Order: sequence, then C-alpha cells, then structure tokens
Amino acid sequence: MGIILKEMLGDTGILGTWLFTSGIVFLRYAIIAGVAYFIFYYLLKDKLPHKRIQEKYPKMTKVWAEVKHSSHSAIIFGFLGMIIFLMKEQGWTALYTDFSEYGLLYAAFSFIFILFFHDAYFYWMHYGMHKIKPLMKFHAIHHKSHNPTPWAAMAFHPIEALLEYAFIPFLVLLVPFHPLVLMMFAIFSFVFNVIGHLGFEVFPKGFVTNPLTAWINTATHHNMHHKNGNGNFGLYFNIWDRIMETNHDGYIEKFNEIATRSKPELDIKGKVVVG
Ligand SMILES: [Zn+2]
Ligand SMILES: [Zn+2]
Repeated sequence: MGIILKEMLGDTGILGTWLFTSGIVFLRYAIIAGVAYFIFYYLLKDKLPHKRIQEKYPKMTKVWAEVKHSSHSAIIFGFLGMIIFLMKEQGWTALYTDFSEYGLLYAAFSFIFILFFHDAYFYWMHYGMHKIKPLMKFHAIHHKSHNPTPWAAMAFHPIEALLEYAFIPFLVLLVPFHPLVLMMFAIFSFVFNVIGHLGFEVFPKGFVTNPLTAWINTATHHNMHHKNGNGNFGLYFNIWDRIMETNHDGYIEKFNEIATRSKPELDIKGKVVVG
C-alpha cells in the first residue's frame, strides 16, 4: 500500500520512504482498529454482551500498552516496506505494474497463494516462538494481552514485528506480484487480525462445524490463544492446527456456546433489561 502511494509522491530519500510507509501502516492500524473498537466497545457494547468472548473488559492501561507496542511495530513494518521499495527501484524484484502482463486470473491466484503461504509461515513462526524459550521472550509482549482488543493487532516486540512479515521481501524476489495485490493482502491480513483480537465473536452459529466454513479461524480461536497460551496457533485457516493437533480441546464447544447464546432483552432506549 505504502509503495503505491510512495510512487505517487516521488523521491523523498530512504528516510522519507521509511517514515512515509510507517505513517501509512500506522494510519491503516488507527483507522481499522479504531473503527472496530468504537463500534464494539462503545456503539454496540450494550447490545452485544452475548457475543463477548471473555465477559470482563481489559483495563485501559492494557489497551494503551497495546497501542504503544503497535506503534513500534508500524516503524518496523514501514522498514520492511522501504526495503521492498528500494529493491524494486534496483530492479531486483519480480513485482510488475501492468495487470495485462500475467492476466487477472494470475493476479487472483497470487492473492490466494500469498494468503496460504502467510498462513503456513505464521503458524510455524508462531509455534516456534512458543516452543523455543529465547524466542518466547519476544513473543511475551503480544501475550501481555490476556483479553485482547482490536488495538492488540500489531502489539509485538520489534523483533517479532520483523519476523511477522520478513517473508515478503524474499517472496517478492521470486514470485511476481502486482503492488495492488500486495495492498489487498495487507488490508485483508490486517482486518482478519483485528477480528482475531476483537474480543467479540462475529461468526454465526454452525460456522466451525459446517464443512464449508470450518477451515476458517474465528475470533474465539485467537482469543482462546491469548487467554490460555499454548494451542490455537493458526492465523487465517484452521488447517495447520488440525494437522498438528494443536487446536484447544474446548475450542468447538466454546465457539458453539457463544454462538448459541440468546440476545439480551432491550428496553425502548436500547438498554439491556436486567432480571
Ligand atoms: Zn502466541
Ligand atoms: Zn494475538
């Protein structure tokens, strides 16, 4: 995303490119996480208590810590964006700017490909950070949120932030991607991440048992990872957790319990009727 806008702005030097891409990443974070937080934690808070994964709300000091660590990650993600931009300028990447070069079908394929590639990369990186003690020291920053909000979506130690997307500068050397496909991937990835840290379950009853949707992860899935630690390591898809048998034992039951809770009764002012 930053790369496209940077091209529109012209030459601002290495530091300028880094600052600019970091700013774009932070803006994406502030807008998407901010909208989700506003809707679920203010606007619909009284209407959706039955969708809350953990009944309690985190303290504001925890929420501010999520924002602080996420802003550090924006600088690291901006750094990776700058590296890709510089590599493209040197002609080292397989990035292409004309859709007609490979066709729209290829563009769609490349989007699906990077999703599955990232899903596998994330699972093993995340699994490794939990299993290898020195790495868990870095990942512990993300696990400070036992009851995450959307603001936790980028709350990483700088080393983990670097690892999170370090595969992209390598991937763009080998696989042709249109910058718009990478931008769509960045937005999709972030929106999914915000859903994972939402604290409310948004998927409908039957989602985790219907064969058509059971392979997609839910807000409950990642929330349980924050609450309980080990298990539920996956990102977009419930594929690697199944292959490796690392889904939490009570995952399906927990999701079904939330999805089948009845709506609270509301009075004419929209407030929950107690008792
Ligand atoms: Zn973890
Ligand atoms: Zn998380």
